[in-house]
Amino acid sequence: MGDLMAGKRGLIMGVANHNSIAWGAAKALSAQGAEIALTYQGEAFGRRVRPLAEEIGSRLVIPCDVEDTASLDQVFETLKAEWGTIDFVLHAIAFSDKSELKGLYADTTRENFSRTMLISCFSFTEVAKRAAALMHNGGSMVTMTYGGAVRVMPNYNVMGVAKAALEASVRYLAADFGPRNIRINAVSAGPVRTLAGAGVSDARLMFNFQRRNAPMRRNTTIEEVGGAVLYLMSELANGVTGEIHYVDSGYNVMSMPSLDELKA
Ligand code: NAD
Repeated sequence: MGDLMAGKRGLIMGVANHNSIAWGAAKALSAQGAEIALTYQGEAFGRRVRPLAEEIGSRLVIPCDVEDTASLDQVFETLKAEWGTIDFVLHAIAFSDKSELKGLYADTTRENFSRTMLISCFSFTEVAKRAAALMHNGGSMVTMTYGGAVRVMPNYNVMGVAKAALEASVRYLAADFGPRNIRINAVSAGPVRTLAGAGVSDARLMFNFQRRNAPMRRNTTIEEVGGAVLYLMSELANGVTGEIHYVDSGYNVMSMPSLDELKA
Protein backbone atom coordinates (compact mmCIF):
# COMPACT_ATOMS: atom_id res chain seq x y z
CA MET A 1 0.00 0.00 0.00
CA GLY A 2 1.38 3.39 -1.03
CA ASP A 3 -0.07 6.86 -1.42
CA LEU A 4 0.63 7.76 -5.05
CA MET A 5 -3.11 8.31 -5.61
CA ALA A 6 -4.05 9.60 -2.14
CA GLY A 7 -6.88 12.14 -2.35
CA LYS A 8 -7.68 11.22 -5.96
CA ARG A 9 -11.06 9.99 -7.16
CA GLY A 10 -11.88 8.34 -10.43
CA LEU A 11 -14.08 6.14 -12.55
CA ILE A 12 -13.22 2.69 -13.89
CA MET A 13 -15.43 1.38 -16.71
CA GLY A 14 -15.20 -2.20 -17.96
CA VAL A 15 -14.90 -4.54 -14.98
CA ALA A 16 -16.83 -7.71 -15.92
CA ASN A 17 -15.15 -10.10 -13.48
CA HIS A 18 -11.88 -10.72 -11.61
CA ASN A 19 -10.09 -11.52 -14.90
CA SER A 20 -10.88 -8.13 -16.46
CA ILE A 21 -8.02 -5.80 -17.32
CA ALA A 22 -10.03 -3.01 -15.65
CA TRP A 23 -9.96 -5.03 -12.43
CA GLY A 24 -6.15 -5.19 -12.56
CA ALA A 25 -6.15 -1.39 -12.81
CA ALA A 26 -8.75 -1.00 -10.04
CA LYS A 27 -6.57 -3.05 -7.66
CA ALA A 28 -3.41 -1.08 -8.52
CA LEU A 29 -5.08 2.32 -8.16
CA SER A 30 -6.90 1.40 -4.97
CA ALA A 31 -3.69 0.03 -3.40
CA GLN A 32 -2.20 3.51 -3.87
CA GLY A 33 -5.06 5.25 -2.10
CA ALA A 34 -7.44 6.14 -4.96
CA GLU A 35 -11.17 6.27 -4.33
CA ILE A 36 -12.89 4.43 -7.18
CA ALA A 37 -16.34 4.33 -8.77
CA LEU A 38 -17.11 1.34 -11.00
CA THR A 39 -19.60 0.89 -13.82
CA TYR A 40 -21.10 -2.40 -14.96
CA GLN A 41 -23.04 -3.38 -18.05
CA GLY A 42 -26.35 -4.97 -17.03
CA GLU A 43 -27.46 -6.81 -13.91
CA ALA A 44 -25.72 -10.12 -14.75
CA PHE A 45 -22.36 -8.30 -14.56
CA GLY A 46 -23.62 -6.21 -11.61
CA ARG A 47 -23.83 -9.37 -9.49
CA ARG A 48 -20.14 -10.06 -10.18
CA VAL A 49 -18.94 -6.49 -9.89
CA ARG A 50 -20.54 -5.56 -6.55
CA PRO A 51 -18.46 -8.02 -4.45
CA LEU A 52 -15.31 -6.81 -6.27
CA ALA A 53 -16.27 -3.22 -5.48
CA GLU A 54 -16.51 -4.18 -1.82
CA GLU A 55 -12.98 -5.62 -1.92
CA ILE A 56 -11.59 -2.18 -2.83
CA GLY A 57 -14.00 -0.20 -0.66
CA SER A 58 -15.78 1.25 -3.68
CA ARG A 59 -19.09 2.81 -2.69
CA LEU A 60 -20.25 3.93 -6.13
CA VAL A 61 -21.23 1.07 -8.45
CA ILE A 62 -23.26 2.40 -11.34
CA PRO A 63 -24.95 0.65 -14.30
CA CYS A 64 -23.85 1.84 -17.73
CA ASP A 65 -24.39 0.62 -21.26
CA VAL A 66 -22.46 2.95 -23.58
CA GLU A 67 -24.94 2.27 -26.40
CA ASP A 68 -27.48 4.18 -24.30
CA THR A 69 -26.46 7.84 -23.92
CA ALA A 70 -28.99 8.34 -21.11
CA SER A 71 -27.15 5.75 -18.99
CA LEU A 72 -23.82 7.44 -19.81
CA ASP A 73 -25.25 10.81 -18.73
CA GLN A 74 -26.55 9.20 -15.54
CA VAL A 75 -23.05 7.98 -14.60
CA PHE A 76 -21.57 11.46 -14.77
CA GLU A 77 -24.60 13.05 -13.05
CA THR A 78 -24.10 10.59 -10.20
CA LEU A 79 -20.38 11.41 -9.98
CA LYS A 80 -21.14 15.13 -10.01
CA ALA A 81 -23.73 14.77 -7.26
CA GLU A 82 -21.54 12.48 -5.09
CA TRP A 83 -18.06 13.89 -5.65
CA GLY A 84 -18.36 17.17 -7.58
CA THR A 85 -15.05 16.61 -9.38
CA ILE A 86 -13.01 13.61 -10.57
CA ASP A 87 -9.30 13.10 -11.27
CA PHE A 88 -9.13 10.06 -13.57
CA VAL A 89 -11.10 7.72 -15.86
CA LEU A 90 -10.23 4.30 -17.26
CA HIS A 91 -12.21 3.19 -20.33
CA ALA A 92 -11.74 -0.58 -20.79
CA ILE A 93 -14.73 -1.34 -23.01
CA ALA A 94 -14.95 -3.12 -26.35
CA PHE A 95 -17.45 -5.22 -28.26
CA SER A 96 -17.87 -6.79 -31.68
CA ASP A 97 -20.09 -9.59 -32.91
CA LYS A 98 -18.13 -12.81 -32.33
CA SER A 99 -19.20 -14.14 -35.72
CA GLU A 100 -17.05 -11.42 -37.35
CA LEU A 101 -13.95 -11.98 -35.20
CA LYS A 102 -12.97 -14.78 -37.56
CA GLY A 103 -12.54 -15.21 -41.28
CA LEU A 104 -11.94 -12.24 -43.54
CA TYR A 105 -12.05 -8.60 -42.46
CA ALA A 106 -13.55 -7.90 -45.88
CA ASP A 107 -16.71 -9.77 -44.82
CA THR A 108 -17.50 -7.30 -41.99
CA THR A 109 -21.11 -6.14 -42.21
CA ARG A 110 -22.14 -2.48 -42.18
CA GLU A 111 -24.23 -3.09 -39.07
CA ASN A 112 -21.45 -4.72 -37.03
CA PHE A 113 -18.85 -2.22 -38.28
CA SER A 114 -20.99 0.66 -36.92
CA ARG A 115 -21.75 -1.09 -33.63
CA THR A 116 -18.11 -2.08 -33.05
CA MET A 117 -16.96 1.48 -33.76
CA LEU A 118 -19.62 2.99 -31.49
CA ILE A 119 -18.95 0.76 -28.47
CA SER A 120 -15.19 0.24 -28.85
CA CYS A 121 -14.11 3.64 -30.16
CA PHE A 122 -16.63 6.49 -30.05
CA SER A 123 -17.75 5.66 -26.50
CA PHE A 124 -14.31 6.80 -25.31
CA THR A 125 -14.86 10.22 -26.90
CA GLU A 126 -18.32 10.43 -25.31
CA VAL A 127 -16.88 9.46 -21.93
CA ALA A 128 -13.94 11.88 -22.27
CA LYS A 129 -16.22 14.83 -23.00
CA ARG A 130 -18.39 14.18 -19.97
CA ALA A 131 -15.42 13.36 -17.69
CA ALA A 132 -13.49 16.49 -18.71
CA ALA A 133 -16.43 18.60 -17.53
CA LEU A 134 -15.80 17.22 -14.01
CA MET A 135 -12.00 17.61 -14.10
CA HIS A 136 -11.64 21.12 -12.69
CA ASN A 137 -8.03 20.65 -11.59
CA GLY A 138 -6.72 18.73 -14.58
CA GLY A 139 -6.87 14.96 -14.82
CA SER A 140 -5.91 11.80 -16.64
CA MET A 141 -7.85 9.41 -18.88
CA VAL A 142 -6.69 6.07 -20.24
CA THR A 143 -8.26 3.69 -22.74
CA MET A 144 -7.24 0.15 -23.70
CA THR A 145 -5.97 -0.85 -27.11
CA TYR A 146 -4.20 -3.77 -28.81
CA GLY A 147 -1.39 -4.24 -31.35
CA GLY A 148 -4.01 -5.33 -33.91
CA ALA A 149 -4.59 -1.58 -34.39
CA VAL A 150 -1.27 -1.13 -36.20
CA ARG A 151 -0.48 -4.60 -37.58
CA VAL A 152 -2.73 -7.31 -38.92
CA MET A 153 -3.65 -9.96 -36.33
CA PRO A 154 -5.60 -12.92 -37.76
CA ASN A 155 -9.31 -12.80 -36.83
CA TYR A 156 -9.06 -9.46 -34.99
CA ASN A 157 -10.59 -7.87 -38.11
CA VAL A 158 -13.03 -5.00 -37.48
CA MET A 159 -11.80 -4.69 -33.90
CA GLY A 160 -8.35 -3.80 -35.25
CA VAL A 161 -9.90 -1.06 -37.35
CA ALA A 162 -11.85 0.23 -34.33
CA LYS A 163 -8.69 0.19 -32.19
CA ALA A 164 -6.83 2.17 -34.89
CA ALA A 165 -9.58 4.80 -34.73
CA LEU A 166 -9.46 4.67 -30.93
CA GLU A 167 -5.70 5.33 -30.97
CA ALA A 168 -6.25 8.30 -33.31
CA SER A 169 -8.95 9.57 -30.92
CA VAL A 170 -6.42 9.46 -28.10
CA ARG A 171 -4.20 11.90 -30.02
CA TYR A 172 -7.09 14.24 -30.95
CA LEU A 173 -8.49 14.22 -27.42
CA ALA A 174 -5.00 14.88 -26.03
CA ALA A 175 -4.85 18.00 -28.21
CA ASP A 176 -8.40 19.05 -27.25
CA PHE A 177 -7.95 18.75 -23.50
CA GLY A 178 -4.22 19.38 -23.05
CA PRO A 179 -4.70 23.13 -22.49
CA ARG A 180 -6.88 22.21 -19.47
CA ASN A 181 -4.11 19.96 -18.08
CA ILE A 182 -6.12 16.83 -18.84
CA ARG A 183 -3.96 14.02 -20.21
CA ILE A 184 -5.25 11.29 -22.56
CA ASN A 185 -3.31 8.08 -23.17
CA ALA A 186 -3.83 4.45 -24.16
CA VAL A 187 -2.27 1.24 -22.91
CA SER A 188 -1.72 -1.38 -25.62
CA ALA A 189 -1.81 -4.71 -23.79
CA GLY A 190 -0.58 -8.08 -24.98
CA PRO A 191 -3.23 -10.83 -25.09
CA VAL A 192 -4.87 -11.55 -21.73
CA ARG A 193 -7.40 -14.34 -21.08
CA THR A 194 -10.62 -12.40 -20.50
CA LEU A 195 -14.23 -12.62 -21.69
CA ALA A 196 -13.57 -10.08 -24.47
CA GLY A 197 -10.28 -11.76 -25.39
CA ALA A 198 -12.01 -15.14 -25.75
CA GLY A 199 -14.38 -13.64 -28.35
CA VAL A 200 -11.59 -13.58 -30.95
CA SER A 201 -11.42 -16.86 -32.85
CA ASP A 202 -8.26 -18.94 -32.17
CA ALA A 203 -7.44 -16.64 -29.23
CA ARG A 204 -5.55 -19.48 -27.52
CA LEU A 205 -3.18 -19.89 -30.48
CA MET A 206 -2.41 -16.15 -30.54
CA PHE A 207 -1.92 -16.12 -26.79
CA ASN A 208 0.59 -18.98 -26.95
CA PHE A 209 2.38 -17.56 -30.02
CA GLN A 210 2.91 -14.19 -28.35
CA ARG A 211 4.22 -15.91 -25.21
CA ARG A 212 6.77 -17.91 -27.20
CA ASN A 213 7.89 -14.96 -29.33
CA ALA A 214 7.78 -11.87 -27.09
CA PRO A 215 11.27 -10.79 -25.91
CA MET A 216 10.30 -11.61 -22.31
CA ARG A 217 8.82 -15.01 -23.31
CA ARG A 218 5.70 -14.60 -21.23
CA ASN A 219 2.15 -13.32 -21.47
CA THR A 220 0.86 -10.08 -20.08
CA THR A 221 -0.93 -10.07 -16.72
CA ILE A 222 -3.70 -7.75 -15.55
CA GLU A 223 -1.36 -6.72 -12.70
CA GLU A 224 1.27 -5.56 -15.23
CA VAL A 225 -1.35 -3.59 -17.15
CA GLY A 226 -2.66 -2.21 -13.84
CA GLY A 227 0.82 -0.92 -12.97
CA ALA A 228 1.08 0.97 -16.26
CA VAL A 229 -2.41 2.43 -15.88
CA LEU A 230 -1.47 3.54 -12.35
CA TYR A 231 1.64 5.30 -13.69
CA LEU A 232 -0.39 7.11 -16.39
CA MET A 233 -3.07 8.15 -13.89
CA SER A 234 -0.53 9.37 -11.35
CA GLU A 235 1.50 12.57 -11.22
CA LEU A 236 4.56 10.50 -12.27
CA ALA A 237 3.21 10.83 -15.83
CA ASN A 238 2.45 14.57 -15.63
CA GLY A 239 4.34 15.25 -18.88
CA VAL A 240 2.80 12.37 -20.84
CA THR A 241 -0.20 12.73 -23.16
CA GLY A 242 -1.34 11.35 -26.52
CA GLU A 243 0.79 8.22 -26.03
CA ILE A 244 0.14 4.58 -26.88
CA HIS A 245 2.06 2.75 -24.15
CA TYR A 246 2.77 -0.95 -24.82
CA VAL A 247 2.54 -3.49 -22.01
CA ASP A 248 3.07 -6.69 -23.98
CA SER A 249 6.36 -8.28 -22.80
CA GLY A 250 7.93 -6.42 -25.76
CA TYR A 251 6.09 -8.37 -28.49
CA ASN A 252 5.49 -5.24 -30.61
CA VAL A 253 9.22 -4.62 -31.24
CA MET A 254 9.74 -7.96 -33.03
CA SER A 255 9.70 -8.11 -36.81
CA MET A 256 9.63 -11.91 -37.03
CA PRO A 257 9.14 -14.97 -34.78
CA SER A 258 11.95 -15.83 -32.36
CA LEU A 259 14.82 -18.08 -33.50
CA ASP A 260 13.60 -20.68 -30.96
CA GLU A 261 10.27 -20.75 -32.83
CA LEU A 262 11.89 -20.87 -36.27
CA LYS A 263 14.24 -23.72 -35.32
CA ALA A 264 11.59 -25.79 -33.49
P1 NAD B 1 -13.59 -7.97 -20.37
O1 NAD B 1 -14.57 -8.81 -21.10
O2 NAD B 1 -13.24 -8.35 -18.99
O3 NAD B 1 -14.02 -6.44 -20.41
C1 NAD B 1 -14.72 -5.87 -21.48
C2 NAD B 1 -15.73 -4.94 -20.87
O4 NAD B 1 -16.44 -4.21 -21.89
C3 NAD B 1 -16.79 -5.70 -20.06
O5 NAD B 1 -16.81 -5.20 -18.75
C4 NAD B 1 -18.09 -5.38 -20.78
O6 NAD B 1 -19.19 -5.28 -19.90
C5 NAD B 1 -17.73 -4.02 -21.39
N1 NAD B 1 -18.67 -3.65 -22.45
C6 NAD B 1 -18.87 -4.23 -23.66
N2 NAD B 1 -19.89 -3.61 -24.30
C7 NAD B 1 -20.31 -2.61 -23.48
C8 NAD B 1 -21.34 -1.64 -23.55
N3 NAD B 1 -22.18 -1.56 -24.61
N4 NAD B 1 -21.50 -0.77 -22.52
C9 NAD B 1 -20.71 -0.84 -21.43
N5 NAD B 1 -19.72 -1.74 -21.29
C10 NAD B 1 -19.54 -2.62 -22.30
O7 NAD B 1 -12.28 -7.99 -21.31
P2 NAD B 1 -10.91 -7.17 -21.26
O8 NAD B 1 -9.99 -7.97 -22.10
O9 NAD B 1 -10.55 -6.84 -19.87
O10 NAD B 1 -11.27 -5.86 -22.09
C11 NAD B 1 -11.04 -4.54 -21.60
C12 NAD B 1 -10.40 -3.70 -22.70
O11 NAD B 1 -9.07 -4.16 -22.93
C13 NAD B 1 -11.12 -3.76 -24.05
O12 NAD B 1 -11.09 -2.48 -24.65
C14 NAD B 1 -10.25 -4.72 -24.84
O13 NAD B 1 -10.34 -4.52 -26.26
C15 NAD B 1 -8.89 -4.29 -24.32
N6 NAD B 1 -7.79 -5.23 -24.58
C16 NAD B 1 -7.90 -6.54 -24.28
C17 NAD B 1 -6.85 -7.41 -24.53
C18 NAD B 1 -6.98 -8.89 -24.22
O14 NAD B 1 -6.19 -9.67 -24.76
N7 NAD B 1 -7.89 -9.30 -23.37
C19 NAD B 1 -5.67 -6.94 -25.10
C20 NAD B 1 -5.56 -5.57 -25.40
C21 NAD B 1 -6.64 -4.74 -25.14
